[in-house]
Amino acid sequence: QPIFSALRPQQPDALLALIAMHRADQRGEKIDVGVGVYRDRSGLTPVMRAVKMAETRLVAQQSSKSYLGSDGDIRFTQLLGELIFSAQSVDDDRRFGLQTPGGTGALRVGAALLTRAMPDARVWVSQPTWPNHAPIFAEAGMATLTHPYFDAKTGGIAFDLMLTALDEARAGDVVLLHGCCHNPTGTQFSVEQWQALAALCSLRGLIPFIDLAYHGLGDDLAPDGAGARMMMEAVPAALLAYSCDKNFALYRDRVGALFVQAPSAPLAEMARANTLALARSLWSMPPDHGAAVVRMILDDPALRKDWRSELERMRTRLNRMRTALAAAHPLLAPIARQRGLFSRLPIDPQTVEALRDHHGIYMPADGRINVAGLNDANIGRFIEGLLPHLE
Ligand code: PLP
Repeated sequence: QPIFSALRPQQPDALLALIAMHRADQRGEKIDVGVGVYRDRSGLTPVMRAVKMAETRLVAQQSSKSYLGSDGDIRFTQLLGELIFSAQSVDDDRRFGLQTPGGTGALRVGAALLTRAMPDARVWVSQPTWPNHAPIFAEAGMATLTHPYFDAKTGGIAFDLMLTALDEARAGDVVLLHGCCHNPTGTQFSVEQWQALAALCSLRGLIPFIDLAYHGLGDDLAPDGAGARMMMEAVPAALLAYSCDKNFALYRDRVGALFVQAPSAPLAEMARANTLALARSLWSMPPDHGAAVVRMILDDPALRKDWRSELERMRTRLNRMRTALAAAHPLLAPIARQRGLFSRLPIDPQTVEALRDHHGIYMPADGRINVAGLNDANIGRFIEGLLPHLE
């Protein structure tokens, strides 16, 4: 067989193409609501104050860069576990955590563990979901099925349709759930919906895999983690992929963790040994810098307080932009109830193109906007461009 002949062309990344188009646009008044990072009111994605401070200390204090283990910075994972759950539940011997390269790494090694543990399991993801979910599970060898999720008419969750579809799930199947701030729709499960999902997973023997990538960017740390917490309490086995890349703005430093809960302590120990073996074959050990920074912030009351207050400012800014958008037209009203960076506008791909061509407004074809791309200086122009296209 000729060398490399089995390779197939790959779809170019639509968001990267969008970035390139936006960069090439010479108009001064262009608006980027495509790229998925937080931006402040000047349109920048700065390093957070507490992160800068911790980095300075880290450089001054670090005396060795010798290897840690495949589970990375153990204190980091413990502090993060306490931030999401509580001190007692972190000590539960049916649970363990390990540091991973970002939320993506947590999803990837979690998917690998699940395919090893349950070779026939399939994963159910919402339609739509973050485009990287299905490929991550596919690479780990797990088939993906989709369930209905977004009700474009109400801008909420089509929960009954979701439950009906999950009737087809088999015992041992995995259900991927966004912990808060769903990407790309901004929707979130209510407490009652989390309870219904927990009951369904327990009754049917399904394994929830919670993706918590925007903790603290919705309503606050406690409410944003409440669904995940409740779910983990209610079911025998669950996984949680955590990303610190948005809420600590550490994106390229790749900071995350995987938490696993097994039905018993011996099974947890078995799952832990297997997860570490899988991590060794994927990346050996995770990059240290960002996790060390997060550890220092969470371990220091003053830095922690400063991080929380900057996170609150970010969240408040996002929600202020949401309120302003929602007030502009009845069809945009759901945006005020949605949370996090993203919402999906009720417009078609032709309109997305027209907004780009005529107004220099950049978003992917599905109408997903990053609310953080808006600020007091451009939101008026954004609404003005959009309104004529709303039915
Ligand atoms: N999960 C969701 C829903 C995301 O939107 C993202 C990032 O965009 C991730 C996980 C992964 O984040 P990370 O950059 O930490 O890998």
